[in-house]
Amino acid sequence: MRKMLTAIFAAAALLAGVVTDAFAQQKPPARGIVNITGQLYRAQNDNHYTVFLVTPEGVIMSDPINRDFARWLKAEIATRHKVPVRYVLYTHSDWDHASGGVVFADTAEFVGHVNMRARLGGRPGTPPLPAAEAKMDANRNNLIERSEASGAVAQRFDLFDQNRDGILSANEILRGSVSDVYPPSTTYRDKHTVTLGGKRVMMVHLGDAHTDDGSVIYFPDERTVFSADVLQVRRLPQNITPTIGAYIDALRTIQSLDYDHAGTGHAMMGTKKDAAQSLAYLEDLAKGVAAGIGAGRSLQEIQKTLMLEPYKGFERWDTHRTVHIEQVYSQLIGMPRSGATPTN
Ligand SMILES: [Zn+2]
Repeated sequence: MRKMLTAIFAAAALLAGVVTDAFAQQKPPARGIVNITGQLYRAQNDNHYTVFLVTPEGVIMSDPINRDFARWLKAEIATRHKVPVRYVLYTHSDWDHASGGVVFADTAEFVGHVNMRARLGGRPGTPPLPAAEAKMDANRNNLIERSEASGAVAQRFDLFDQNRDGILSANEILRGSVSDVYPPSTTYRDKHTVTLGGKRVMMVHLGDAHTDDGSVIYFPDERTVFSADVLQVRRLPQNITPTIGAYIDALRTIQSLDYDHAGTGHAMMGTKKDAAQSLAYLEDLAKGVAAGIGAGRSLQEIQKTLMLEPYKGFERWDTHRTVHIEQVYSQLIGMPRSGATPTN
């Protein structure tokens, strides 16, 4: 009897575990819409955010984020505002912000920086696999078969697989997991203005910071900017790539606009003052590392002494400060960067 009970309890525990796992996997993403000002709104999908402006003739929105979220947002906009989405303005081409736009393709025009189209198109030639993927390549054919893929490559295999042949080439890896990014139908080089229903929205290129196809989305009447990954509020950026100079230039471009509300793709909303603090962090980082190199200090010495104290309350200060110092150190002394992986 005891044996049987033990077996039943074990089975029940196992079942509970399975159910909990299944539940955890199916946990719906945190979603919501909040008003920023006027008819401008911010929409959330877990740790990703986008913005949209409602006009009498339709909606001008930024990143679609992913297909499931885009379907949800489309329905919310239809129910609440009863107008279609007429423009999708991309902040940049990264998969975790730009996927799923196809949901709006029946009514919307898609605008992105000209380099976005180039990136989505892929590259010519047959380069070697990047180091991390080369480790997965068990049969050493310079391709990643589905059975070889692990980690993020396995999770997003289909988003990498541009030609849908079930095998990833180095070019598909280098292009990124962007197969569900609906390409921009309109591209621009420096600045672009969209007008609809008496409203203006501007896009300004952010140079090479983070990706080379980044735009800040500017709502002049609402005195609001929106930028994903380049602009952060009380949060350090992920990686300072490709150079600290590019990052400083991008933040200066954002600060050259006349605005009050700073909208970000990941962090909290803030003000122009918050963006100024993010710019000051980058400038202090650049100055501090340069001064350390000038004084003949090693990277490790600079990491120990350059504390960047005013930014201690920022998210990721404890994890990213020393990484940023290393990245900037390598850039300033002309060494290749170590292990920088672009993402949010
Ligand atoms: Zn990004």
